[in-house]
Amino acid sequence: MKVLVTGGAGFIGANLCRRLAGLAEVERITVLDDLSTGDARNLADLPVELAEGSILDSGLLARLVTGATTVIHLAARPSVPRSLADPLASHAVNATGTLHVLEACRATRPHVILASSSSVYGDSPAPYKHEDLPTRPLSPYGATKLATEAYALAYAASFALPVLPFRFFNVYGPLQPAGHAYAAVIPAFVSAALRGLPVPIHGDGAQARDFTYVGSVTEVLADAAVRRVTSGTPVNLAFGARISLLSLKDALAEVLGRPVEAEFLHARAGDIRESQASARLLLGLFPAVRPVPLADGLRATVEWFRRSAEPVGAGHRETVPPGRPVDSSQPCRSMSTGEVGD
Ligand code: NAD
Repeated sequence: MKVLVTGGAGFIGANLCRRLAGLAEVERITVLDDLSTGDARNLADLPVELAEGSILDSGLLARLVTGATTVIHLAARPSVPRSLADPLASHAVNATGTLHVLEACRATRPHVILASSSSVYGDSPAPYKHEDLPTRPLSPYGATKLATEAYALAYAASFALPVLPFRFFNVYGPLQPAGHAYAAVIPAFVSAALRGLPVPIHGDGAQARDFTYVGSVTEVLADAAVRRVTSGTPVNLAFGARISLLSLKDALAEVLGRPVEAEFLHARAGDIRESQASARLLLGLFPAVRPVPLADGLRATVEWFRRSAEPVGAGHRETVPPGRPVDSSQPCRSMSTGEVGD
């Protein structure tokens, strides 16, 4: 297998490259990344060829797609608040960029796996989001992710492109940056707790998410690539865990072996109360996968934070230089409030 990973220098992408690098079936890994939120240092010790550039560069894409048997398209401008700040920029990368990737794949028809998001469900009241629910994105980001999966399925129907669009829920784990305005909730919690600060919670903390350890996500992605799994509908990539922010705080305290306080902040407009996946379709396609339990995933995340100082990644450059040990006595210079969207 010759795999092209777009967005491979990012959080999920670099974890995926590490897993792919350990597979006998994988002959070559190429990453296309513009390093806007990713970081080349995430790939430093991996046998990966990094092409620094944008998925909006169709010439570059065409060159990289030629010879790839598998394309795993993760490149995106992530985050709901980012898309609220600049919807056109999110559309350009996430929707138009995906179209560029698919168009580049039209001639040689590699297997294409893509990342959509639970944000396409919007505020659907169904306790478990199954793939047959109507989609109602509430943010420009969610709309761009709906476009991502819709274009993929349209290319499958129109041009016989073998595709597998996944809807990721709240993915967490090593390499996920904290310390910037758009940080996700788990790195924000871990970063605060390691500094002895209260974890920031918007609202009452009863809002629940289907937090999914990145190792479980990359296990499914790698297996999908090896077995060339395709689907005529998007597939949730989460396991139906219902974890409130308050119980997340308690689980983190358990892992750290000391109490963790919360700082309650104003509730955020548009913050969805419940976001749990139905995993029925996923487990039908990947019956052998077992999700990493929260406590184990949190332990690995905390260890990574401790080992690597502040995480590398664009969001960190202005805060703590990578490689510097975490000093829990130092206050965080750029405290994130923890995004729970996506
Ligand atoms: P990330 O920001 O760490 O990774 C995105 C990568 O894409 C970065 O390395 C970035 O530099 C790169 N990129 C951005 N614009 C690009 C462009 N124009 N050309 C080439 N590369 C570009 O985010 P992540 O959490 O690893 O997300 C990976 C994918 O998963 C994204 O598509 C995201 O929308 C999706 N997703 C993530 C989550 C989550 O919880 N992390 C949830 C739902 C969906």
